[in-house]
Amino acid sequence: MTVAESDTVRNRVRIAQETMTPGQLAALLAFGAAIAFALVFVQEPLVHDSLHDFRHAAGITCH
Ligand SMILES: [Zn+2]
Repeated sequence: MTVAESDTVRNRVRIAQETMTPGQLAALLAFGAAIAFALVFVQEPLVHDSLHDFRHAAGITCH
């Protein structure tokens, strides 16, 4: 990325911050939080399964 491109991105972020209302910023933050929650929610079973497999690999039976 060239300096000019990063400046353009920075300008766009600055313009977005200056033109968005607090309500829009709140909506954006809520959207980001929803995405983060969805990612955690989707990944949790995978983490649980890997821990489950680890328990069995370690010789601990759970069922
Ligand atoms: Zn098990």
